[in-house]
Amino acid sequence: ATAARQTLKIGLIPADGIGHEVIPAARVAIEALGSDIPKPEFHDLLAGFELFKRTGEALPEDTVETLKECDCALFGAVSSPSTKVTGYSSPIVALRKKLDLYANIRPVLSVAPSPDQQPDVDLIVVRENTECLYVKQEELTNGTNGKEARATRLITERASRRIGQMAFELALARPRKHLTIIHKSNVLSITDGLFRETVRAVPSLDSVGGRYNDVTIAEQLVDSAVYRLFREPQIYDVMVAPNLYGDILSDAAAALVGSLGLVPSVNAGDNFVMGEPVHGSAPDIAGKGIANPIASMRSAALMLRHLGYTKGADRIDKAVDEVVREGKTLTPDLGGTSKTQEVIDEVVKRI
Ligand code: ATP
Ligand code: MG
Repeated sequence: ATAARQTLKIGLIPADGIGHEVIPAARVAIEALGSDIPKPEFHDLLAGFELFKRTGEALPEDTVETLKECDCALFGAVSSPSTKVTGYSSPIVALRKKLDLYANIRPVLSVAPSPDQQPDVDLIVVRENTECLYVKQEELTNGTNGKEARATRLITERASRRIGQMAFELALARPRKHLTIIHKSNVLSITDGLFRETVRAVPSLDSVGGRYNDVTIAEQLVDSAVYRLFREPQIYDVMVAPNLYGDILSDAAAALVGSLGLVPSVNAGDNFVMGEPVHGSAPDIAGKGIANPIASMRSAALMLRHLGYTKGADRIDKAVDEVVREGKTLTPDLGGTSKTQEVIDEVVKRI
């Protein structure tokens, strides 16, 4: 499918805060790739909390309709109001649902001190994006001994299978081809038991025809996985987890490599992929021109990689790694004094 495209239609949704400063960085990185990808065609789209405050709408229908015509998209960041605001719900959560982006993929990579050394941390967290405790069915009742609160945790075979397949696919594309299934089935034997069994059974599905037999499989309880992530991150290659464990693991993994301003992600489904830096809208630094654009540029690379444009993705990643390794042009979050635009220029020059 990738070879057939004449143009690559990319939706750009800066949304809030530093989203407006980092999404343009991803755009110029993509533009710098020239003929390594089909001619990019960008569509600027509206969404976010700031938009909601102006218009009463956080995710206009027009944005969703245009996205459905696009091949992929880049999302900046959305501010979360600190108290509940009537009528507002997060546009990113809605987009994941509307476009069925069931996987959140977060590669966490430390940049090695020299190009021929191995990085200490080089792993991918694959987080299920649609169920688990995020079905948000909670209830509060009055029991005989006071208030009682309950939450429903949904794990389905269908969602576990498709996230499992995505994880095997990613593992297969990496040199080590190693997959660790994260769960807590010693306590939650039914829900986590289903997740674990279903993911384990993926290689034996008729539909995959033995493609995943080269992938080695390990399992780990989520608590010990966090511990080992900090003690010996090198043991991990691809980690696959239900929604909540995946959320916690990927933030913990991001802490291992320094700034939030470095870590990219994509939200992926069978028909669409949306890049999104892991950081939020960073209201404390928004508008100052000092946001780190690297997570956003890496999200663009990850999105292209997911679509099969490996060469273009490699060129962005390599340029970013060089700039980080050299350490001369860095934003304040990495201890530097450079502006967003200076980092963008430095990366684009190398692309
Ligand atoms: P939100 O509600 O949008 O998540 P937040 O206050 O949690 O906002 P984050 O964006 O999650 O802010 O950032 C947490 C901290 O990391 C902030 O101090 C922010 O300035 C910093 N930070 C996040 N992203 C970047 C970036 N790209 N460059 C520099 N600093 C960043
Ligand atoms: Mg935040």
